[in-house]
Amino acid sequence: MPAQYHHSLRFEPDRCDGCMSCMRACPTDAVRIRSHRAVKLADRCIDCGECIRVCPRVAIVPLTEQMADLSKFDLRVAIPSPAFYAQFDADIPPGVIAAALKQCGFDEVECLSMATDEVMAATEIYLEEHRGQYPLISSFCPTVVRLVQVKYPELVDQLLPILAPREVSAREAKKRKSIETGIPEERIGAVYITRGNRI
Ligand code: SF4
Ligand code: SF4
Repeated sequence: MPAQYHHSLRFEPDRCDGCMSCMRACPTDAVRIRSHRAVKLADRCIDCGECIRVCPRVAIVPLTEQMADLSKFDLRVAIPSPAFYAQFDADIPPGVIAAALKQCGFDEVECLSMATDEVMAATEIYLEEHRGQYPLISSFCPTVVRLVQVKYPELVDQLLPILAPREVSAREAKKRKSIETGIPEERIGAVYITRGNRI
């Protein structure tokens, strides 16, 4: 696991009563009960959110970026997912949604479709060149990748070694905007925006 892996949830010991529901639900044995409180083993947690779903005391909270956090960047690029657009009524054009994102503080709104096409083309080439190595596992979902790494390391070589469209889109957007504006890539924030699941 990369040392800088950023987890997206936090256990709140003051709200926990040690009921063990999260421990039973965790697919990677990443929860322990110590002194009647749940604690997370960071190196085993895959950020699947199952513990949040089952906790009866709301003692595990998701960590999300706030809009104010974007102020640390000189340029902010939104990368909306198809699921984000899909939650709006069909008569609301994507341009209106993009304009709303700019009103929220983003400077640019990136379309994911070009990166998706590039990734699909690269995937087809890879599959053609690596016949016989099936089954290959898509690496688009970071939780699935982490699950394989933590729980099924023998399958790591089956992971498709191709970046997800959101990663490709973010890297290309940063590079392009840096060339256009002169702002260093590290001062440009690219944020993937998707729809939260109801849990
Ligand atoms: S997010 Fe998933 S892997 Fe991490 S502690 Fe919760 S249930 Fe376990
Ligand atoms: S499910 Fe919630 S209350 Fe129960 S042990 Fe886990 S964190 Fe604590």
